[in-house]
Amino acid sequence: LPGYSLERLQLENQLRKALEEDQLIVHYQPKLHLASDRIRGAEALVRWQHPEQGMLLPGSFIEMAEETGMIVALGEAALTKACVQASEWYHQGPAPICVAVNLSVQQLRQSNFAARVEQILLDTRLPASMLEFELTESMLLEHVDAVSTNIARLQQMGIRLAIDDFGTGYSSLAYLKRFPISTLKIDRAFIGELGEGTPGARNQDAAIIRAIIAMAHSLDLVVVAEGVEHDGQLEFLKENLCDEVQGYLISRPVAGAEFTELLSESSEA
Ligand code: C2E
Ligand code: MG
Ligand code: MG
Repeated sequence: LPGYSLERLQLENQLRKALEEDQLIVHYQPKLHLASDRIRGAEALVRWQHPEQGMLLPGSFIEMAEETGMIVALGEAALTKACVQASEWYHQGPAPICVAVNLSVQQLRQSNFAARVEQILLDTRLPASMLEFELTESMLLEHVDAVSTNIARLQQMGIRLAIDDFGTGYSSLAYLKRFPISTLKIDRAFIGELGEGTPGARNQDAAIIRAIIAMAHSLDLVVVAEGVEHDGQLEFLKENLCDEVQGYLISRPVAGAEFTELLSESSEA
């Protein structure tokens, strides 16, 4: 089998075991709402507490999980943990936080996906309005019945839907009409060069960001900028009325307990 190294097979077996032994954890990265200067949302990002290699980031195992189908179980484990945490923030404070969970298209192809989500919300006592799913453009261009049925049911339940990495996909905007999307997340590739690099590229990125914000607002969508690392980027996004920002400038993704601390500090301020 080409590409199947011993190392890769070992990693597959280890991930299977990690799912059984609950080695996956979820970190949370805040999204700052600019108009109120408050944290109202967080993105849930999975990490693997590997017994020998320490904490692994999704870049080193998500692709393999997709290829082996383990992403379905991994995704459900991450979703459940995120809902438990969001429920704690909702019922015990310091503040209700809408938690955004990344989905794989393989989860959306499962005919029972929406029903599973409904059960997880019940089990964790989380209102659907405190959950958001991040989808990518390509998922909305899949013409598979189960995918569109699941998306419609999730929206009917009151779960928010966001388009992740907006602007890098297929540039087909037709799905914005067909699907009940609430949020666009501008890909960090457009944010990265703002205020840096060559003036030409900078101006083009600025123009693209302004255009995405204008389009999103005229469609009544919330716009989030990801990958915000510098003050200059934040200033530009404020001036241009972007709704929320996420990035290292605000905070790196942190463990749930650390996020709770961050929230208590910011609500005292
Ligand atoms: P994403 O959904 O686009 O998530 C944002 C990524 O950007 C995260 O990387 C985050 O740590 C990183 N990031 C945040 N702020 C900054 C910044 O200011 N600068 C830079 N350079 N990077 C920033 P992470 O955690 O490594 O996640 C990578 C990808 O893995 C995610 O991309 C998402 O597509 C995927 N992923 C993570 N968790 C899950 C999950 O539970 N299920 C699925 N299916 N995919 C997941
Ligand atoms: Mg995401
Ligand atoms: Mg993204």
